[in-house]
Amino acid sequence: MSSKKRRPVIAGNWKMNMTPSEAKAFVSELYEKVKGKRGCDIVVCVPAIDIPAVTKVLSGTSIKVGAQNVHFKASGAYTGEISANMLVDAGVKYVVIGHSERRQYFGETDETVNLRTKAALDAGLCAIVCIGETLDEREKGITSEVVSRQLKLALIDIDAEQMKNVIIAYEPVWAIGTGKTATSEQANEVCAIIRKVIGEKYGKAVAKAAIIQYGGSMNAANAAELLAMPDIDGGLIGGASLKADAFSVIVDAAQ
Ligand code: PEP
Repeated sequence: MSSKKRRPVIAGNWKMNMTPSEAKAFVSELYEKVKGKRGCDIVVCVPAIDIPAVTKVLSGTSIKVGAQNVHFKASGAYTGEISANMLVDAGVKYVVIGHSERRQYFGETDETVNLRTKAALDAGLCAIVCIGETLDEREKGITSEVVSRQLKLALIDIDAEQMKNVIIAYEPVWAIGTGKTATSEQANEVCAIIRKVIGEKYGKAVAKAAIIQYGGSMNAANAAELLAMPDIDGGLIGGASLKADAFSVIVDAAQ
């Protein structure tokens, strides 16, 4: 079930970093470093205001542009929000949904994660759906239960065909931005559980094809070991995606 024939996806999550001018200079530098590397998909998930500048520089390149959130309604009185169609029209291909920072600081729930995922898929975006346990939940021994529940709720009313455009990012909350990485065994163990839950819902073929990323302090030094694990098909990378050299080394590790 955990064949590594899947094509890895290395996605940077810039969070609230980089002005449009900084973003423009950064992606030009990044492109020079990764342009010959064809063994994985490369995505930069940027602040919404950076999207026009970044899509302009990356147009026609192998680096795809992602957003960090999407609203679930198509349009209307939702001040400050951005719809899936707006992202598509701006040249965005991927969107991060349910990041733990959005769950923690912006009231994101399993229900809104599901709604946003459906809206993204309906618009033709690839959804990077984030799930993961807190330190407290890991210490209580309920990681598998928590992650399985988040996954099942995120995937309500999503069919097998749509799963081709879903990436699951396993991001243990205790490892995000803390410098504490899950060991490759810990990360792989949970990614394998995620694949099993996908298999129970959609069957073996969908589970075998599913892209499951690890995220949580992945960096130039630990990426190769994590990405070599049988059930880890890429990374969602925060801090290290803001340094072109480090991100390029992670891309190398996925080749
Ligand atoms: C993230 O933002 O999804 C993330 C994993 O951050 P970091 O790599 O900084 O832990």
